[in-house]
Amino acid sequence: MNIISQYQIEWKGNQYTNKSSRRGHAPSIIVNHITEGSSDSTISWFTSSTNKVSSAHFLVSKVGRIYQFVKIEDSAWANGIRSSEYHRATAPIVQEKGVNPNWYSVSIEHEGIYRDTRGELTKEQLAATIWLHGYIIDYVKKNWNVDMPADRKHIIGHYEIDPVRKPFCPGEKYPFERIISALKDVSEIELTDIKGHWAEPYIKRGVEAGLLNGYPDGSFRPNQYVTRAELAAVMVKLLDLEK
Ligand SMILES: [Zn+2]
Repeated sequence: MNIISQYQIEWKGNQYTNKSSRRGHAPSIIVNHITEGSSDSTISWFTSSTNKVSSAHFLVSKVGRIYQFVKIEDSAWANGIRSSEYHRATAPIVQEKGVNPNWYSVSIEHEGIYRDTRGELTKEQLAATIWLHGYIIDYVKKNWNVDMPADRKHIIGHYEIDPVRKPFCPGEKYPFERIISALKDVSEIELTDIKGHWAEPYIKRGVEAGLLNGYPDGSFRPNQYVTRAELAAVMVKLLDLEK
């Protein structure tokens, strides 16, 4: 139960939290950031009456707690650039969309100081942000029927939108590839090592129901002990199915 409760989203937004309309644009990318401060200072800044400049949808702390300030339905103020700056962005989607990136993005802040971490996450933070990325992808699919593929075009860093002012957000050690491989659609995974195993039909049924997952290398490793994180992922999916 502890494993599950650490992935509850804690609402922190208030009447001072900056937000605006998406102007009809569906969320279609996740943009990752580093806070350059503690979780506590980020929470107080995003709820302060004196902050008239910034916000984010989510914050993931170093101990793996997840906070939310802005509904996914609204734009957070995290990735704004002028239209004259779109050409500087290295993320191809900025050119393609040609509108304010806040209108089509969902932003996640990660507690950390670039000078200390270079964007690397704690183990708890990585597990929580993987879960959160999956939550956002599912939420967007359910509410807008928009697919947000788990790839580097749709899961990006702030530096790819604003390479001039934010070159170190979230930092070169931010684990994009680990997050993406953890999120890879189960349907893309061909399980290579379950043939003839006694549990083969059960494993297949579990994968089809979206309860179980293979490894990114296409194996299932049926005799390997299940880890806490793997069990947590199954439990989260079970609870979701029951709703
Ligand atoms: Zn940023």
